[in-house]
Amino acid sequence: MSENKQRLEIVTPQGKVFSEEVDFLVAPGAEGELGILPNHAALITSLNIGIMRIEQDGKKFKVFVSGGFLNVRNSKVTVLATAAERTEEIDVARAEAAKQRAEDRIAAGSPDLDLARAELALQRAITRIKAASEK
Ligand code: ATP
Repeated sequence: MSENKQRLEIVTPQGKVFSEEVDFLVAPGAEGELGILPNHAALITSLNIGIMRIEQDGKKFKVFVSGGFLNVRNSKVTVLATAAERTEEIDVARAEAAKQRAEDRIAAGSPDLDLARAELALQRAITRIKAASEK
């Protein structure tokens, strides 16, 4: 691997959804946006629901992540997430439906509502819609 590259692996319950050499990435770290270049210091952090921005050979693209963990070690960045999709893979109609469901659930406020869960579902849906519209 060239000294100016780092390997990015994104692992979900579906398996390894991404494994390529990239030049730069920005991840939604729990304590703020985290820019990572090759040879970054070793690091482990949790991630928020958000959008990863990746630069590879002069091209830029984005990946939605549902939160999870990020580890950097020896120019290898590993992201563990419940879900991750490249923006072009996002099914916007599905995200719109998920958003509506979550909003209806929150508005109905039934006694057995798990508000934190509904809010996370809403945030995933809103972030997917944003990610897809930004591509
Ligand atoms: P839904 O209610 O539509 O399932 P969700 O936010 O609960 O949305 P997740 O638990 O984040 O879904 O993801 C479950 C699986 O479905 C993952 O593999 C994820 O990549 C995929 N997925 C969920 N929503 C979308 C979408 N809008 N477009 C593409 N893949 C999606």
